Amino acid sequence: MYCFQCAREYLEDVAECVECGVGLVDEPPTPPEEVGEQDEEQVAYELYEWSFEARRMLDQLLTGDSISHGWQGAILIVRERDEDRVDALIEQAEVTEDPRLDPDVEKIGYSMDEWTAEAQSMLVETLGLNGVAHEFDAEGELIIAETDEEVVDEIIEGVTQKLALDDALGDASIVMEGLELSDFLGDVRILANKLVKNPGDAKATLAIVKKSATLADIRTPFGFDSRRWGQIRLGGTEMNEVLSTEERTEEDVTEAAQALSALLADIV
Ligand SMILES: [Zn+2]
Repeated sequence: MYCFQCAREYLEDVAECVECGVGLVDEPPTPPEEVGEQDEEQVAYELYEWSFEARRMLDQLLTGDSISHGWQGAILIVRERDEDRVDALIEQAEVTEDPRLDPDVEKIGYSMDEWTAEAQSMLVETLGLNGVAHEFDAEGELIIAETDEEVVDEIIEGVTQKLALDDALGDASIVMEGLELSDFLGDVRILANKLVKNPGDAKATLAIVKKSATLADIRTPFGFDSRRWGQIRLGGTEMNEVLSTEERTEEDVTEAAQALSALLADIV
């Protein structure tokens, strides 16, 4: 998978570029300087205002129509002679743009004072994914339609929880990649499956306590989506916590082991 904006290459299960935030595409992008022949005129479209998803959609429409194109960040480069065709596709892609706030509806504002830039961009992305029309006013307050209050409250809670999760996990210190990592994850999954079958397995318990502590402390490996890796680390943390609780039931163990095994299912 490739980022169409910066050309970084990713493994297949990665959804978006860690640098640009845009969704990935199947084909390697064309460097902007290679769009058209050397003596051919190019035109540039500045699409900073566009959502990630709309840019990705446009990229795919251009690829689908075999229109040579490249990106410089959020600037789209095409051949001048393709301009009319590109304009038509731009109109098509704009439909997927974030819905605009209706000027005639009652609105409410949320102060973003306590929000970091990273948290705000996560919030905006989630609002977009849920089709919630929104904008920011001059003071930086998030403005939404009053009728969306409930869903926005839910989204804010979700984003807040996600950030709290990142905080709770803390920084990981172990670097593990490649074969060592896949062997390790394979071992963890085998142990987890043993505990699913027999939550009283003392040998497996002892082994997985050590391994799940390690798992919870591994930095996001190359090619993994950081959110997804965060969930895997959390799975390790939870397995460890359950097993270090004296009054745990067999059901607790089975549940945590099942969850951990499922997190690793399509990796190993
Ligand atoms: Zn990128």
